[in-house]
Amino acid sequence: MEHEIVGAIMDALPAPLLLLDVAGRILRCNTSATAYFGSDLRHQIFQFHFRKPALVEALNRAIQGKMTSTAHYQSLGATNHALEFNFCPLPAYSDSPLVLVVCRDQSRENRVERMRSDFVANASHELRTPLTTLSGFIETMQGAAKQDEKARGEFLALMKAQAERMSLLIDDLLSLSRIEVDEHVEPRELIDLGMVVRQAESLLRPIAKEAGCEMHFDVAPDIWVKGDANQLGQVANNLVENAIKYSGRGKRVDVAVSRQSNDATLTITDNGPGIAAHHIPRLTERFYRVSAQESRTRGGTGLGLAICKHIIKRHRGRLDIVSQVGMGSRFTVVLPIAE
Ligand code: ADP
Repeated sequence: MEHEIVGAIMDALPAPLLLLDVAGRILRCNTSATAYFGSDLRHQIFQFHFRKPALVEALNRAIQGKMTSTAHYQSLGATNHALEFNFCPLPAYSDSPLVLVVCRDQSRENRVERMRSDFVANASHELRTPLTTLSGFIETMQGAAKQDEKARGEFLALMKAQAERMSLLIDDLLSLSRIEVDEHVEPRELIDLGMVVRQAESLLRPIAKEAGCEMHFDVAPDIWVKGDANQLGQVANNLVENAIKYSGRGKRVDVAVSRQSNDATLTITDNGPGIAAHHIPRLTERFYRVSAQESRTRGGTGLGLAICKHIIKRHRGRLDIVSQVGMGSRFTVVLPIAE
């Protein structure tokens, strides 16, 4: 009876758990551990199964020192999990003491930590680049170009562009962090997607004109979604602006809002340079760019699609990207229709 209760409790707990005797024989392997390690490890010898000196040493420490010890284990192969093993000696119920092994998968934590530090490194790098250019200009103006009125005028214009770039980047970083804060709060407002896109259109017309790009809008009326008008406007704006800035002079951008069964779709099609297939899955990562230089010269921050992804996720939608090098790209935002 007692054994059954112990088994039931172990199975009810979400962490992978193993119960060992002092020789390392696995007496119990809970449901989570069975799923995690791919089979029920009962009757196997822990040391033979895991074959990692760090784990065996930690097990011995727990048995001899009668206190909890910890070891880390990185599984190899496709799964590549980082596991923390805690060996907890239990008070002896019978003649033989037992060790409870509690496993904790740290892969997600490690990944988040890595992403966070990559993000800080990337953001610092992106800010440092214009800052270095600015400092360079300041030094030149203090030294070699001190008396050169014409050069000073040119330098000031270039410095202004760098300062604008920094401020654009800071705006995007703040925008991203604000979006992340309420990513889990479902928007409640009823929005006509076409209206949002029409508003973006009026902001984008001058940009398209300056870039020499033709824009065509085909917006169906009464496509209602639950959304945040500002955020959806930002998505439309980012995607259409990308289409304009990467396509360039003489090209055409088509924007359509329509209904496909229970979905509202916003489609932006361009006949610009297109994107090679291997870049597509990574485009929505922060700071991921096909060409950093190209993006910078076009005033990009590398955050636009990351912002779109988070907003679309908040709206329970998805972003589909289809592209072919030399032919153009199509970005489709799919959102659930509000009934
Ligand atoms: P950026 O500020 O660099 O434009 P985004 O996150 O908006 O950053 O886009 C990421 C990258 O995706 C861009 O740097 C560019 O390489 C590519 N990209 C986005 N939209 C297009 C497009 N319409 N055509 C070609 N490439 C695009």
